[in-house]
Amino acid sequence: MILEQTGKICDGLYSTGYHFLPAFLLASPTPVLFDAGVAAMGSYYLRDIEKYLGKADTLGYLLLTHSHYDHCGSIPFLKEKIPGLKIGSHAHAAKILQKPDVVEMMRALNSNFAKVFGDLIGNEADIPFNPVEVDLLLKDGDELDFGEGWTVRVIETPGHTRDSLSYYIPRIEAVIAGEAAGVFHNNGINPQFSSSYSDYMASLEKLAALDMDILALGHRNILTGDDVGKYLRDSIETTVSFKENIDGCLDRFNGDREKVVETIFGEIYDETVLMQQDKTSFLLNLRAQVRVVAEGK
Ligand SMILES: [Zn+2]
Ligand SMILES: [Zn+2]
Repeated sequence: MILEQTGKICDGLYSTGYHFLPAFLLASPTPVLFDAGVAAMGSYYLRDIEKYLGKADTLGYLLLTHSHYDHCGSIPFLKEKIPGLKIGSHAHAAKILQKPDVVEMMRALNSNFAKVFGDLIGNEADIPFNPVEVDLLLKDGDELDFGEGWTVRVIETPGHTRDSLSYYIPRIEAVIAGEAAGVFHNNGINPQFSSSYSDYMASLEKLAALDMDILALGHRNILTGDDVGKYLRDSIETTVSFKENIDGCLDRFNGDREKVVETIFGEIYDETVLMQQDKTSFLLNLRAQVRVVAEGK
């Protein structure tokens, strides 16, 4: 099955907020939230956390899949509402979420998002992004125990960013993948190898080797049952051909990366797709992927 809306995924796991930028809630004895979208959606997550947990302050942890603004934007808001909340991430994410220039860029991207999509998301208050302090540094193989058989295994899945983590929940054979497995929309997959193509492919293979019944993507969709394996195979194939397309364009334009970005943008960016990604972030991502291919990373 391919789910798109927020709500209950299975006993214990919920998609909260807004389907394009979901935060996943594990209602274990010590509840855990995975990711925390953009700043403007902070109250959407909080509303759903209250709905499923009764009281928001029982939420114990917020674990990040990576350090992009659209996955950690509402941490400052949630920290303010839930002071005891502990944040977990890759060590690299912990470092860069403290950097003044990164924080400034995140703040700008978050308020740009609120401007571009204000009508659609109801223009919630533009809560500024601030430096984030991480309490728990996570690495490959860490096993976290949240009570009554609810454990979470940390899997390093770099390639989208170098700090990308996926989270495996054995009890329900679910994976919270962030963008390590790409983004799915209108039956197509957008590869997301913004930091390294070879790492990204290795991460996809790593995910494909897991016993998995639920794959929760960082944007928009949740795959279940047979659709999980099918999606991962498609994601691997699409990523290979997307890279070949970039290689071909680099040849055609004698290595002129900006021309390659322009050409591919024209081919794949579809403004009619609702909230696929705003142009600025889409171009940032595409430029990074062209660079990765050009530099053979
Ligand atoms: Zn990302
Ligand atoms: Zn994202």
